[in-house]
Amino acid sequence: KQEGRNHSHIYQDSDSVSTELKASLEWTRRLHQAVANDNLTLFFQPIVKIDTGEIAYYEALVRLKLDNKIISPAEFIPALERAGDMDLLDKQVIRKAFEYLNNFKQLNKISINLSAQGFSDKRMVPYIQSLLEKTSVSASRIVFELTESASLSNLTETQDIILKLRSLGCGFSIDDFGTGFSTFNYLKQLPAESVKIDGSFIVELINSKVDQALVKAIYDVAKTLNKETIAEFVENKETLNMLSQIGITYAQGYYLGKPAPADELFY
Ligand code: C2E
Ligand code: MG
Ligand code: MG
Ligand code: MG
Repeated sequence: KQEGRNHSHIYQDSDSVSTELKASLEWTRRLHQAVANDNLTLFFQPIVKIDTGEIAYYEALVRLKLDNKIISPAEFIPALERAGDMDLLDKQVIRKAFEYLNNFKQLNKISINLSAQGFSDKRMVPYIQSLLEKTSVSASRIVFELTESASLSNLTETQDIILKLRSLGCGFSIDDFGTGFSTFNYLKQLPAESVKIDGSFIVELINSKVDQALVKAIYDVAKTLNKETIAEFVENKETLNMLSQIGITYAQGYYLGKPAPADELFY
């Protein structure tokens, strides 16, 4: 399923199939249980405007509470993707995000990650629209993030959904930019107003001439297309300074603030 339509995958080792399948089923069960018991929560990580140092907004990052532990999505998203359950996760996250926006006025604006499954689900845009109508949350407080690789399968449909979300008043960012295949071509064709440069180009930036050239190239193309740039995985001051020199507008990363629960950030 992950490989898109018209792909078949030949498994060499039937043991790994059943192990993967069991893991997917187990995470699906945990997801449904977490939904029933309200054990999904959101952490928030600041996104800082580089020239002023001010927090522009926060990215919402889902966490699963399980046996007094807080579990990061890297552990369960691949399994939920295989099980086709990411649309359920996305809906829960969006519902929660609206709760936080309602309850915390200090949370002026947040970005919400959408999975490929959630993004292409026909019921997603109407769901978001109904939440906007039911609550007093303004769409201008919401930015959606979609991973570049998730936008590759059907360009016309992707463009259409992005335009619908933007016509509701929400912002839209391409996430993890630079890791897909025909990246610049898609950047040109996707009606997003900002681009998040993938962290893999940022972590070694200060020591890598190649990464510096790539980040500059992404910046130049984005600027020409009138899109703002965000760098993720900014882990030290030197990296922030270099991004500032290149002209990148926003930065996010452990140096500027780790993801944290709302009650630690806004009280
Ligand atoms: P992402 O959207 O690219 O989010 C950035 C990830 O990098 C987050 O991991 C964040 O904690 C981590 N990170 C932030 N700053 C730094 C840094 O300076 N260095 C390093 N090494 N890492 C940093 P997290 O929260 O584990 O999320 C992983 C991925 O899972 C996200 O990548 C996103 O694709 C997905 N995800 C997270 N929350 C949601 C959600 O609510 N819905 C959906 N559909 N996907 C989500
Ligand atoms: Mg993201
Ligand atoms: Mg990202
Ligand atoms: Mg990333």
